[in-house]
Amino acid sequence: MKIGLRIDIDTYRGTKYGIPNLYKILDRHSIKASFFFSVGPDNMGRNLWRLIRPSFLRKMLRTKASSLYGWDILMRGIFWPGPVIGKKLAGIIRSVSNAGHEVGLHAWDHYGWQAHLDTMDSIAMQRDLRRGVELLTEIIGRAPTCSAVPAWKCNNLALLEKAKFPFSYNSDCRGESIFYPLIGGKELSQPQIPVTLPTYDELIGRRGVSNSNYNESLLSFIDPEKLNVLTIHAEVEGIVCLDMFEKYINMAQSKGASFFPLGAFLSDSLTADRAIIAAKEISGREGWVSYQSPKNLQLE
Ligand SMILES: [Zn+2]
Repeated sequence: MKIGLRIDIDTYRGTKYGIPNLYKILDRHSIKASFFFSVGPDNMGRNLWRLIRPSFLRKMLRTKASSLYGWDILMRGIFWPGPVIGKKLAGIIRSVSNAGHEVGLHAWDHYGWQAHLDTMDSIAMQRDLRRGVELLTEIIGRAPTCSAVPAWKCNNLALLEKAKFPFSYNSDCRGESIFYPLIGGKELSQPQIPVTLPTYDELIGRRGVSNSNYNESLLSFIDPEKLNVLTIHAEVEGIVCLDMFEKYINMAQSKGASFFPLGAFLSDSLTADRAIIAAKEISGREGWVSYQSPKNLQLE
């Protein structure tokens, strides 16, 4: 039973603290995974504030949210540009690559992409991708072989801009199987490896799932007959849910599962499907995500 393990890193904090933590766990269990880095400015504080209504803000001040999240995260990118993660923490990113993990591009500016994708033109997308690829290349000494858009926010324009880079695959959406995306009936050459399993924030607090039964619940989604791809976040499983994540690894391995970087699925003799990427709402997550969808959905 194979599980593709994808680690998304969205912030400076996740890179600095989450990565070294996860790195040790993976090492202890002899696991190689795919790391998707955000390397440009960390403006994720803006994302948090964007979600907050005045009533919620008052509650946060009352409950001293700053001690929960840390003022550094809450203020990041609000009054001044956030730190460029790839400049400040290049050594951590490089160590992941040197240890033999798969390294891909998540974002130049994670917040910028997820907040403004709908209004970005191909020039803006190309500039974002290129800045990310160039800095990551400088850090690890070779071009990243794969990419994954922030927050599963992708569209056909983004797919076409990604096709200009030598990525052997992208992981831009949720879905069920490896597939080649179709645009206007034409097949792109970079396959998509979708994420098939729910993330922590989608599963927790719903349908009776709490931290005490989270791991069992997550394991119940594994289907040995199908593609299984899990995304964890350096900010979540790498920091606050670290112990729980290590228990999950132990449980999964004792049930016969092994973890792999996503690129390992490409060498399998899987027959890739053809599908389009369409926006869809999924349970536990606000707004839309890109989803592997039947090709007859495509509107010409
Ligand atoms: Zn992300």
